[in-house]
Amino acid sequence: MHPYSPLEKFALTTVVSAFSKREDGNMSLSYGDIKNSLNNRKKFLDAIGIDHRALIYAKQVHGNNIEYVAEQDKGRGALDYKSSLADADGFFTDKKGVPVAILTADCLSVFIYDPKKPAIAILHAGWKSTEQNICAAGVRLMQQKFGSQPHRMLAGFGPSIRSCCFEVEKDFKTNFPFGLINRGGRIFMDIALVNQQQLVNAGLREEHIFDPKICTSTDNDNYFSFRKEGESAGRMISVIMLK
Ligand SMILES: [Zn+2]
Repeated sequence: MHPYSPLEKFALTTVVSAFSKREDGNMSLSYGDIKNSLNNRKKFLDAIGIDHRALIYAKQVHGNNIEYVAEQDKGRGALDYKSSLADADGFFTDKKGVPVAILTADCLSVFIYDPKKPAIAILHAGWKSTEQNICAAGVRLMQQKFGSQPHRMLAGFGPSIRSCCFEVEKDFKTNFPFGLINRGGRIFMDIALVNQQQLVNAGLREEHIFDPKICTSTDNDNYFSFRKEGESAGRMISVIMLK
């Protein structure tokens, strides 16, 4: 098994990042078929050198609150859902050996790495969080707390539903001027493109943002998709940790 690393192309040695696929199984303790989730997590995380009991999870709410975490938060949500950090859709830290995760099945996961500090962030960007510009919020927090410089930051995306499949209502309105595509009178949203543009607007260089361009709905054999599968859909994990 070779977990896919969204930051792989930057050839990093001080950070581990990965997202799971359908074959790795459901990673959620609250959605889909959860009976094997703990074992799935352990197997996937063992392979990338992360202790599954230490990983930090959020009770994701499609907002733009991003929590700073450190040693004392390790293991929140690792073995049961209820101990997950409440009302958060992202984490950031400058602490080594503090792994953070988000769970998705169509939403975009955004990995951010500042190699200079070093520091990391991971964000859960569905369209609601995207509308609240969670990427800009994450970059701003890293600037404020760590003095990170956006032009040095590297970012990567996980798999998400893409504009080929993400149809929205005709009167769908957003406060960003890009990312909605009209195809024959039907409106589709390019959620990765919007987040990429928001990262660039926040100061990241375009060549520092890696997009694997995986659609969870088109490639449903390999990824979970809430829109395609409904309530029974499992969740993929996106995880990052400073080594
Ligand atoms: Zn698609």
